[in-house]
Amino acid sequence: MRSLSALFTNNRAWAESMKARDPEFFARLARQQAPRHVWVGCSDSRVPANEIVGLLPGELFVHRNVANLVIHTDLNCLSVLQYAVEVLRVEHIIVCGHYGCGGVRAAMLDSRLGLIDNWLRHVQDVMKKHAALLERLPEEQRLDRLCELNVIEQVANVAQTTVVQSAWERGQHLEIHGWIYRISDGVLHDLAVCTTSLAELEENYARIYTRGAEG
Ligand SMILES: [Zn+2]
Repeated sequence: MRSLSALFTNNRAWAESMKARDPEFFARLARQQAPRHVWVGCSDSRVPANEIVGLLPGELFVHRNVANLVIHTDLNCLSVLQYAVEVLRVEHIIVCGHYGCGGVRAAMLDSRLGLIDNWLRHVQDVMKKHAALLERLPEEQRLDRLCELNVIEQVANVAQTTVVQSAWERGQHLEIHGWIYRISDGVLHDLAVCTTSLAELEENYARIYTRGAEG
């Protein structure tokens, strides 16, 4: 007997409902994908990429990992970005974090969870980099702020990849966005770090951390 049969039942119902809405949907999807957006998000099961932005299969090219990190030596993430930018010619790369992220929390508390601790070192690097800013906040606000700072740092990491730098050098239009999602109300927030060039990245960075230092 096949286990998880409920999921297959759900799948058949979903496929039927999609076909009822649009009889050509799967035929069109099978011919090609033409997404205009890349999503770099957290693996957290409560943050389903397509669903929260109301996009259908075929409209969002997705990469997810714990704590939505973009690491310069992560061939998995870099390959997603390279294929999306150079082959699919997407116009938007969205880094989306979420408040209450378990990965960010584990990094902040220096929890011992196993192999994943090595991955979360990258979040601890973000925390150390902005330690002065975080320490000025009341303790209950630090996790949320670190979730935001982590997204902002990953936007910078995306902008600094050879993939994105080469795209900008050849004049390809490409916007990198930093967003954060609140699981408790389902609402997305724009962290206002949209970047379309290295100069803009530096301006955003200066503005954010100057404001942070004042606040
Ligand atoms: Zn998370």
